[in-house]
Amino acid sequence: MSITLEAPSRGRPPEHFLDRDSAGRRTLVEERGLPGYRADQASRHLLGRYEFDPDTWTDFSAGDRETMRALLPDLLTPIRTLECDDGTTVKTLFRLHDGSLVESVLMRYRDRTTLCISSQAGCGMNCPFCATGQAGLTRNLSTAEIVGQVLAGARALSMGEVSGGPGRVSNVVFMGMGEPLANYSAVVGALHRLVDPVPAGMGISARGITVSTVGLVPRIHQLATEGLPVTLAVSLHAPDDALRDTLVPINTRWPVREVLAAAWDYAEITGRRISIEYALIRDVNDQPDRAAALADLLAGHLVHVNVIPLNPTPGSAWTASTPEREREFVRIVRDRGVAITVRDTRGREIDGACGQLAALA
Ligand code: SAH
Repeated sequence: MSITLEAPSRGRPPEHFLDRDSAGRRTLVEERGLPGYRADQASRHLLGRYEFDPDTWTDFSAGDRETMRALLPDLLTPIRTLECDDGTTVKTLFRLHDGSLVESVLMRYRDRTTLCISSQAGCGMNCPFCATGQAGLTRNLSTAEIVGQVLAGARALSMGEVSGGPGRVSNVVFMGMGEPLANYSAVVGALHRLVDPVPAGMGISARGITVSTVGLVPRIHQLATEGLPVTLAVSLHAPDDALRDTLVPINTRWPVREVLAAAWDYAEITGRRISIEYALIRDVNDQPDRAAALADLLAGHLVHVNVIPLNPTPGSAWTASTPEREREFVRIVRDRGVAITVRDTRGREIDGACGQLAALA
């Protein structure tokens, strides 16, 4: 299977109120004969209070509720939730209007709650160690489909439905299904809906948001100019092109040197530290000389390495590095002055860990 940058256009969801920015939402309600201020009122219900059913909006007349309902098609139907870690990790499988399936994962920690969300149904990047990559790309998600995953999590938390009592979403990572920068405009729209203050958006701090990419260089440069200081994570997985060509096939288009140059440009413009994702695969990319090569590429930059033990995917011969190898890898990188931590991989038992999202209904 090859890499797919352009998503098929079939299956586009119906237009939703939250696909648009504040001004666009005002225009939309005015076109339906409502006063413009209704857009902000509706936005407060949706983005500030997670009240998705207009029947609960007591500040709207019955007629205006019906008008609004037509702008709020059901885009995401939760068809299954799976829990582990005493209910503090929750994976939700959603069916989209065209039958496509996507997943999100909520992870509650003592001091924060992270939602890992999908930006595409499937993925076109074809990384051989990733379960999502194996099925190929079905289609891009719309802005409202992306934001809807966060709203669903925010509502469940606010209603006290997640173990640990009522809470809020503090972090959002675009590390579910899909390559976010291959669905650029919908993702940037979603980022605005997440970080803009209520009623324009949900008011989540940009510092808590991470966009993870295989390294689509022109899009990294573009994202740097959006005025959205979100964290950029680069899925590197190898310091050398010969190996990275096989692990992250788009590397043949944008090699390591160019991806990192774009990342440093991003760090300079946004002031945000770059995250480097490195899934340790036994005897594939975990050798001491690769650790040293990685550190040499990164030393002196505003960067942090997240090591993830590979989550084996069905049918793959690859597995995680031994704990000794992992420790040695981390030590070599750290000794060369580069910040590095091992990422906690939650949700393995429910196929909700990194790279496991495959939406098998
Ligand atoms: N397409 C984007 C975001 C989705 S993947 C990207 O590639 O960055 C989120 C992260 O999970 C990426 O760093 C990806 O490389 C990693 N990943 C994928 N499959 C994995 C697996 N089987 N084990 C561990 N990490 C994996």
